[in-house]
Formats: sequence, structure tokens, C-alpha cells
Amino acid sequence: MTDWRTGVYLDVASLRQTPHYPARLRDEIGLTTAVLSFAGTLPQQIAQQTPFPQTPPAEGQIADLVLRHMDGQAVDEREFPLAAASVGPGVRASGDDAGFRETVDRLKSQGLDVWLCGGCWTERRLMYCPSREATAVWFEAVCAHWASAYGVDGIDLTHARFPMGSFPLGLFGCTCDSCALAADEMGYDMAEMIAALRSARTQLRRLDGRRLGEVVRMGLGFFDIIQALGVQPGLLAWLRFRAELIARGLQRFRAAARSANPDIFFGCDTYPASMALTVGHDLGRWGEFADFASPLVSHISAFTCDTLTTWAKFLQAEIGDSLSAADALATIYRFTGYDGIGLPETYDGFGDAAELAYRVPVDDLVRRDLAKTRLYLPEGLPSFPIIHGTGWPRAAIDRIVSEARRLGHHGIIWQGTDELIT
Ligand SMILES: [Zn+2]
Repeated sequence: MTDWRTGVYLDVASLRQTPHYPARLRDEIGLTTAVLSFAGTLPQQIAQQTPFPQTPPAEGQIADLVLRHMDGQAVDEREFPLAAASVGPGVRASGDDAGFRETVDRLKSQGLDVWLCGGCWTERRLMYCPSREATAVWFEAVCAHWASAYGVDGIDLTHARFPMGSFPLGLFGCTCDSCALAADEMGYDMAEMIAALRSARTQLRRLDGRRLGEVVRMGLGFFDIIQALGVQPGLLAWLRFRAELIARGLQRFRAAARSANPDIFFGCDTYPASMALTVGHDLGRWGEFADFASPLVSHISAFTCDTLTTWAKFLQAEIGDSLSAADALATIYRFTGYDGIGLPETYDGFGDAAELAYRVPVDDLVRRDLAKTRLYLPEGLPSFPIIHGTGWPRAAIDRIVSEARRLGHHGIIWQGTDELIT
């Protein structure tokens, strides 16, 4: 199957330790593509387009550029050191351009396609507001440079999304003045959206936990959710607006990359389909700004299970003692579409992140998102799921790969390969 792409995430520092690793993967598992984290330096004319007023930026300058929560809450400062170690959003200051070029050239000489993996708006809890023109101009310049300066075949943008659901702060932003203006331009009403979010929360708090638990275990559908939360049009508008902001930005970044190199293969990873809309990923629109999708289903802890437990605890806090932990988890599984695969009925049941793949049915969990991803992505858009080849049971890995083929995905990008090679 020659059109099946086999990729792996690589970084320059690890390749210095294990220079023969890519050739070995090529020979043993049919590696075709190296996805190499950007570790170069930007030339002065690109670097000076940073939205940072100075490098490194002061805390107040970072705070001014990042996502604003609907309650006006200050941004989470825990990630500010990441911003302070960068020349601009998504690009670290610690690069070595000669070393990066040399690594790209060596991978190319081994017959591999090389995709440059670059960052975007989000770094863990921190997100640069996606409505700022200066930030958009920065990413256009950076993507154009990446596309044309290193001889790479593709750009694989990562973190082009709102913060993950396990950091709930990100679900309720960004509501800054630039976003209100962007909303207005795109036909949305920020005040109406915020009012709808608040009203859903009020309705949620009125629910009786015991009755909710009973209903959830019988079955819960689309109309139940609308009724239970008194869903207003503004709540759906909020999800659409955020996806629109992401799509609008990525359209600009791909256009800039293509104008610098018309042959560049431009794409980005997608959040697990069941919860993609919570981070502004509308998979049905992926073809508007990407030449491929990489469903990022490897982060079963940070993306999936942490979100499920965080939301269940939030439900318990909102509804009160009448909602048991088991019913809260059951409600969230049902609401997010992860019910019926045997996820734990207690918080402790998840164990530590390191053993998670042995505590939860990882193959069922991942297969569910791969099936949904293929349902929503435009027909024919190449899709390369990202899964772990390290730390997951080998039998589960094999089932996921064979399901990915059956569902019509076009390859696998590996995070770690310990379980794959001898
Ligand atoms: Zn904003």
C-alpha cells in the first residue's frame, strides 16, 4: 500500500542522540514522513513582525495579547514563562537555524518527506487572542518563511485552537474588545452569546441531580439537552463564532504559505472529533484552510479523560450533592458521546496518566473519534491520525491502525515507536 503515509514526530535534539533512528524506522515500519518540530531561528525581517512590543515581553504585554475570559477574569499566568521564552506567539527564542537546516537536509537525503511542525495560538492554558490583526500578520509571515526557507514538503501546524477542555477557562473566551468587533463583523452578537452562556448555567443549576442521573442512564438525546439547559441561539452561535475565528485565521496562514511556496502541503492537527467544537475545530470546514488533517487522538489523558473528569466535577459543583460522582460521569459520557465503552464509574478508576491506556478501553475510545472524524471531514481530504506507538498495548495499537484503514484514513503519524520496533 504505497499511498499509506507513515509519519513520526521528531525533534532536532533527540535526533542528535539517535541519528540512525529515522532510517531504521524507514526500513522497519515503512516510515515515509518526518514531522520535525521547528527549532530554527527567524531572520530579522520576520522576527521584527512579532506582536510582542519587546523581546522577551513583559507580563503586562503578554496579558494584553491573550484570551480574555467572559467574566473578565485575568488570564492564567502559569504559562507566561513559555511566552517570555518566545520571539513571538508559537516560536521559541532558543533556535539554531544551521542545526535545523542540517537536520532537514539529512532527513530528505534519507528519502523522507519532511513536514515542519510549527506552533500557533495556544500553549496549554494560554491562548493568544485569535482576533488580533498583529498576531495574524505575525503568523502569516512565519508560515510564509517556514514554507519557503527550508525545503520542507509540508507545514503541520499544531495548537491552532482554543485551550483544551480540561482547562475550562478557555471555553469561555475570548471576549475581548477585538473579539467583540470580530463577532460584529461576522454577524454575531457578543452580548447575546455571553447572555446565552450565563442562562445555560442558571438552567443547569436548577436540575435535580438524582432525576438527571436516572434519565441519563435510560438515554439522553439532542432535544433533551436543549430542554434541560434551555439552550438559546447565542450558545450555538458561541460555538460557531469561535470555529469561524479559527477558520478565518487558518485561511490567511495557508494563503501566505502558498504564496511563498505554491507546492507546500499545509495542514493541522484536529482535536478529538467528539469535543472538537469546544476548541473551535469544525471538521466539516477543514478543506477551507488545510490540505490535510491529522486527528490528534493520542492525548487520551490531557484531551479526553481529563476533560471528562473535569466536566463531571464541574457538574457536581453546579448541581450540588444530589448528583453522585458516578451519575456525573455517566452524564458527561453520554453528553460527549463516550458512553457504552466501559469508562470508569469513579474518578479514581482513571488512575495515573502513565497507566491510563491500560485502565480505559483505549482502542474503543480512539476508534470512536476516528469514525466521527471521517464522518465530518470533507470527503477525500487526506487524514493521518496521530497515535501512540509507545505506552499503549500493542494489541490496541494494531486494532486502531486497522480501523483507521477501514474507515478511510490515509496513514498514521506516530508519537513514539517503542512498541513497533524490535
Ligand atoms: Zn479576543
